[in-house]
Formats: sequence, C-alpha cells, structure tokens
Amino acid sequence: LSERLGGVFDRLTKQGALSEDDVKTALREVRVALLEADVSLPVARQFIKAVEKKATGAAVTKSVTPGQQVVKIVHDELIGVLRGEGEPGSLKIDSPPAPILMVGLQGGGKTTTTAKLAKRLKERDGKKVLMASLDVNRPAAMEQLAILGTQIGVDTLPIIKGEDPVAIAKRAKTQAGLGGYDVYMLDTAGRLSIDEELMAQVEAVRDVANPRETLLVVDGLTGQDAVHTAENFDERIGISGVVLTRMDGDGRGGAALSMRAVTGKPIKFVGLGEKMDALETFEPDRIAGRILGMGDIVSLVEKAQQTLEAEQAERMMKRFSKGQFNMNDLKMQLEQMIKMGGMEGMMSMMPGMAKAAKQMGDAGIDDKILRQQIALIHSMTKRERANPQILQASRKKRIAKGAGMEVSDLNKLLKMQRQMSDMMKKMGKMGKGGMLKQAMR
Ligand code: GDP
Ligand code: MG
Repeated sequence: LSERLGGVFDRLTKQGALSEDDVKTALREVRVALLEADVSLPVARQFIKAVEKKATGAAVTKSVTPGQQVVKIVHDELIGVLRGEGEPGSLKIDSPPAPILMVGLQGGGKTTTTAKLAKRLKERDGKKVLMASLDVNRPAAMEQLAILGTQIGVDTLPIIKGEDPVAIAKRAKTQAGLGGYDVYMLDTAGRLSIDEELMAQVEAVRDVANPRETLLVVDGLTGQDAVHTAENFDERIGISGVVLTRMDGDGRGGAALSMRAVTGKPIKFVGLGEKMDALETFEPDRIAGRILGMGDIVSLVEKAQQTLEAEQAERMMKRFSKGQFNMNDLKMQLEQMIKMGGMEGMMSMMPGMAKAAKQMGDAGIDDKILRQQIALIHSMTKRERANPQILQASRKKRIAKGAGMEVSDLNKLLKMQRQMSDMMKKMGKMGKGGMLKQAMR
C-alpha cells in the first residue's frame, strides 16, 4: 500500500491549496486503507465524502505533497470522529449502588472485560464492586466470573442453580444495596449471533436493573459484523458506550470507526489482552493511526509544519533584531498575550519584567485594552500596518474612528510599537537574539 501511495504522491507535488483533483486522487488511496482496516463500506464512503469537502481548498504545508497533506487531514478528522464528546473512559457511577450492564455477542469478551473493569474501578477509583453472572446458558460461564473475582479480589454474587437472569439481576441489586457496594456489574449471556431470544432476555434484565451504564463489548477484530451488532444492540437495548476487545491483535481496528459512525456512542475502553490489567482508556489518536496505517506520512507532515513554524519564527527574529517591528508583528504579539493570560501573564514570564508586569496589572491594563489595540490595528490598511511611520493626522483620525476610539489611544499604540521595536533591536543585539527567543517561547 505504501508503494502505491508513494506513486500517487510523486505525481502530486505542486504547492498551494489542495485542488479537487488532489483530494480525490489521495482519497482513493485512503478509501482502500480504510477498507483494508475493516471499516464498513457505507461508513468509509460517508467518511471520505465528509473529508473531501473539508480538504478541498485547504492549504498545503511547504515541503509536503498535496497527497500527504490530505492524509494528515484525514488523520485529524478520524481522531475527531473517534473522540466524540465527554471524558474518555469516564463512567456514570455516582449514586451507589450503580448498575453497569455488560452486553454483547458470545466470545466478544464480556466476562473478561467485566472483571477487568471491576479491577480498574476497585484499584483506580477505590470503588467497592459486586459482579454477577447472568449467563445461565453455560454453567461454566458463571464459574468463570467467580474464578476471575477471586483472582482480582472482587466479590461475585453467589451462584444459585436454576435461577433465571432476571431473578439474578434482582438479587444482585438487593445484595449490592445491603452490602454497601458502589457498583454492581451484570455480565449477561451472549449468542453467536443476534436473535430475538437474546434481545428479549437482555431487555428484561435492563428493565429490572435500570443500568447507569450499558456497555457493549465487541471484538475489535470484527469489522463489518461489529456495525451490525452495535446497531442492533443500540436500537433494542440502548447502549451508553462501547468496549473494543482484542486490540492487542494485529487487526487495524476499523470496527471502532464503524461503530462510532453508526451508533454515535463513545468508545470508552479497549481490551489489550487476556490478563486482568489489559484494559485501557480509549485513545482516539492511537486507533486513528492504526486504522489509517499511514503513520509515517502523518508524522512527516507534522514535522514539516513544525519546521515551517520554526523557520517563520527565525525569520521574524531576524527582522526584529534589525529593528523591523511593524504593526502586523505587534498584532501577533498582542494576540499571543491574550492567549498567554494577558499582558501581566506574559511579561511576568520575561526575565526582569515581573515588576513592570505587576505595575501594568495594577494600572488595569488587561485583555480589554489588548483587544482595543488589536481593533485599532485592524482599522489600518495593509500599507499602514507594514509602515506605521507614514501615519499622519488624517490617517490617524480615520483609523481611530474606524475602531471607535480616540487618536490619543492610537498614539499610545504607536508609542508602544516604537518602544517594542527598540527593545527588540536591543535584545536582538544581545546574544544574537537568544534572550528574545527565550522570552517569546
Ligand atoms: P464472553 O463470551 O463475551 O463473555 O467472552 P469472554 O470474556 O469469555 O472472552 C472470550 C475469550 O476472549 C477469552 O479467552 C478471553 O481471554 C479472550 N479475550 C477477551 N478480551 C480479550 C482481549 O482484549 N485480548 C485478547 N487477546 N483476548 C481477549
Ligand atoms: Mg461470558
């Protein structure tokens, strides 16, 4: 695949903005990558379409090809889709005893994940957890959970032979209340495929337990099937999140994207092995990298962007040290200051400026003033911004009026620009801009 991509990217080497053709050509390869990662066809299609719109016309970073740029855009978009809202790995388990319902197909990893999650809740969150197996179809399944419980030091509901899942759920609820548990987890039975009996059973359990979280446990190696499974469980039972298991395998994890797209529900955790501590909070960037399988290209583009930023900073520094500090530069500085917590915050970080910063803070020089100053600069023409020395009375009047301020305000800004320009020049001479660089970092 990378060879094929290399070929495509060699052909696309012109710079500037991404054309429709650039985007289409690169996305054809991305589509193949998604399908190879087991993303379901309709989801891949839909995703590509959304990216196509976003990418067309986007800027291309110097020294990367349009194709590479498209891959980076795809990568970022993937992360966005995978992330969704909310804190990753968070669970609604306030108001004890909070029920967590585990659902999914047989062999997906429900029982293992139930125990892993119980261990995590116990160890990381200090919760007292009770686990109950509702899998009456396979007697060994109840034993399996009990053994895991002993292993990790988490209580399991005693097994009573002949009880049905709803009765077990009720008993777990009662026991959790009496025993002072924070959380009780219901590990349901699965089937090899979705059928009416299974759904009806899970539904009945859901209705008695009223779960705070209903987690669908899905084998991350299943691609197309995962969509179908997620769709069905979400429609019928209503899931609150997904756990993707077997992500320790060599699968590319396309199921993650498919399920996010189809259900819109968050992926909360991933299973990374059979051991009890092999459960991690879902990290979208990691999965995005796997799904796309073009990590080299992504990091190449990121590096190019960083290099470009460094070059721009270097060039700026050179100009500053020659005393070329115009209104565009000042505007950038002002915007940076707002970002960094205002004038006071920024200056207090500069060597020897802490006192001046405090004085400015005391004098009430804050974000509002910074924004007014930026408004004044906005009110200037391109030429005026580049050469503020050309400002005479009539221009000044026009600019001040445009920003809804007084000429005296503009004069203050001009004075500031001159002072900054002088200061930058001096700092530039001292140690080849070393101090300036430090201050701007
Ligand atoms: P259930 O039928 O849904 O309850 O599935 P189980 O929890 O019994 O898991 C079925 C098999 O998958 C077991 O052998 C587990 O050890 C294994 N398994 C579960 N989760 C993972 C995982 O994240 N990685 C790997 N490699 N194996 C897992
Ligand atoms: Mg099981």
